[in-house]
Amino acid sequence: MPMPMDSPLSQYVVIVIISGVLSLLLATYAFFHKSGFSGMRAFIASMTLSAWYTFAFAFELTSNSLSEIRFWINIEYMAMPFIAPLNWLLVLHYVGLDKHASLKKAWWLFVIPAITLLMVLTNDFHGLFYEAIELRSDAPSPIVDVSPGFWYYVHGIFTSGLMLANVLLLISHWRKTKSIYRKQMITMSLGLLIPFIGALVYVFGVSPLGIDPVPMLLGITSTLHLYSIFSAGLLTVSPIAREHIFESMRDGVLVLNLSNQIMDFNSAAAQIVPALTPAAIGKKLEDVWKRGAESGVFSFDLEDNMERQNEHQFKWIRGKETYYYQIRTSRLLKPNGQLAGRTIVMIDVTEHTLLQNRLRHLAEIDGLTSTLNRTTFMEKSRELLKTAHAEQSSISFILLDIDHFKQINDGYGHSVGDFALQHIVNICKQQLEPSSLLGRYGGEEFAICLPGADIEEAAQTAERLRLTIASTPMYSSAQTIHLTASFGVTETRSSNDRLEVLLREADIALYRSKHNGRNCVHLA
Ligand code: GH3
Ligand code: MG
Ligand code: MG
Repeated sequence: MPMPMDSPLSQYVVIVIISGVLSLLLATYAFFHKSGFSGMRAFIASMTLSAWYTFAFAFELTSNSLSEIRFWINIEYMAMPFIAPLNWLLVLHYVGLDKHASLKKAWWLFVIPAITLLMVLTNDFHGLFYEAIELRSDAPSPIVDVSPGFWYYVHGIFTSGLMLANVLLLISHWRKTKSIYRKQMITMSLGLLIPFIGALVYVFGVSPLGIDPVPMLLGITSTLHLYSIFSAGLLTVSPIAREHIFESMRDGVLVLNLSNQIMDFNSAAAQIVPALTPAAIGKKLEDVWKRGAESGVFSFDLEDNMERQNEHQFKWIRGKETYYYQIRTSRLLKPNGQLAGRTIVMIDVTEHTLLQNRLRHLAEIDGLTSTLNRTTFMEKSRELLKTAHAEQSSISFILLDIDHFKQINDGYGHSVGDFALQHIVNICKQQLEPSSLLGRYGGEEFAICLPGADIEEAAQTAERLRLTIASTPMYSSAQTIHLTASFGVTETRSSNDRLEVLLREADIALYRSKHNGRNCVHLA
C-alpha cells in the first residue's frame, strides 16, 4: 500500500531515517578519528547498532504486510537489545571505571540481550516474546499491535533498568566530576535519558499512533554525542585522556581557586594527604591541610609558601615512617592572563632524600668509630672558628692519642684494636657536650672542638676524659685491657688564628704529653 508523503507516518519515517543517518555518521566519524578515549569501541558499537536498529525500524514502518514487518522486527532485535549494555560500558569508561568495562568482566550483560534475540527469532514456535502480533485496523498504514509475552517483560525491565542505571551512574559521579567537564556530563546524561523517557512513553501507551519513539530519539542521542565531540571535545581532545593522565600521575596535584578552595585533586594527592576525600572539594585548603596535619607532623607551612612561586621540601612524619615531599606551587592563569587559581604539585622524594642522607652520612662519618672523618671535622671546625672570631667568643681544641696502641694491636690482634678505638669514642661521646665536635683525626688520634670553651675549661674536659679512659678498662673475650691516652689542648687567641695553626699547637702539646710519660694533659 503506497504511503501518502504528507501522512504523519511518512514524517515519522523521515525523522527515523535522519536519526539513523546521524548515528551512522557519528559511528563513522568516531571510527576514523583516533582518540585516546578508552571507551571508543563501545561508543562506535553503540552508535552502529543504533543506526542498524533505526534503519530497520524505518523499513518496518514502510512495510506493507505482517510478514514483512515480522522480518524487519527480527532485524531490529539483532541490534536493539545490545545498545543499553554497550552504553553501560561506554559510561563506565566515561566515569573512569575502565577496569570494570572489559568484555571479559561484563560479558554477562549481553546474556539477556542474546536470549531476547533468540526469543524473537523463534517466537513462532513458543510465543514467549509476543503472545500475539497482528496488524492494527485503525492505523492509516500497516502498524502492528502486540500482546507482550513473558520474555518481552524480561527484556523490557532489563533494558530500561540498564538505561536508568546508566543515568544514575553518571549522576553518582557528578561530585567527582571536575567542573569544566560537567557540561559534557549533562550532555551525555541527556543523551541517555531521552530514549529512556521515550521508552516509558511507549510502554504507557501514550505515544502518538502507538509508534515506538525510541528510534527517532536515538538520533537526538547521537546528536548530543556529536555535539559533545565537536563543542567540548568529549572523545577527541578528550578530557577523559586528560583526566586519565591526571589520575595516573605519581605526583600529587591539587588545584585551588582564588579563595584557596580545593577545586580538584588526583588520587596521588589523596594518598599523600588522607584528608583529601571527595568531600574536600570546595573546602578551604587550610582546613583540609590542618586535618591532614593532625595525623602527622608537617615541617612545612603551606600558607607561607602560597604567595611565592617556587619549590620547597617538607618532611612529614606519619607514625613510624618519615616521608619527604617536594612541593611546587604555581599560578594558574586564564587565557587572558588573569590569575584563576593555583596548582600544588607534591612529589614524593622520600627515597631520594633517604639515599642522599645516606650518601652524606657515608661521606662525613668514619665507618669504624661513627665520629666525623677528618675532612668533615676540619670543615665544621673551620665554620665554628669563624663564628667564634665573629662573635669574639672562645673556642678550644683538644688532640687525643691513645698510648701504646701498637701494643694492643700486636698483643690482642687488629680487631681488638678496632674495638679499643670504639671504646675510646664511646667514652668521649658520653663525656662531651652535644655542642662539641669529635672527629677521627688519624689512625688512633682524635680531635675535639669545644666552641665557647676557653683553655681552662678545655683542659678540665681533657683531664676528665683522661681520668675516665684510665679508669674504664675495656673487656675483650675474658681479658681486661687498660687503656690510657695523652692530650694536647689549645685555644684561639686572636681573630686571625687559622685552624691548621691551632691544631699544630695542640699536636706539639700532645707530643709533650707523650714525652712526659703519657696519660697526661699539656696545654699549648
Ligand atoms: P704512642 O702513641 O703511645 O706513642 O704509641 P702508639 O703505639 O700508639 O704509636 P703510633 O701512633 O705510631 O701507632 C698507631 C698505631 O695504630 C699504628 C696502626 O697500626 C694502628 N692503627 C691505625 N689505625 C688503626 C685502625 O683503624 N685499627 C687498628 N686496629 N689499628 C690502627
Ligand atoms: Mg698512639
Ligand atoms: Mg698516633
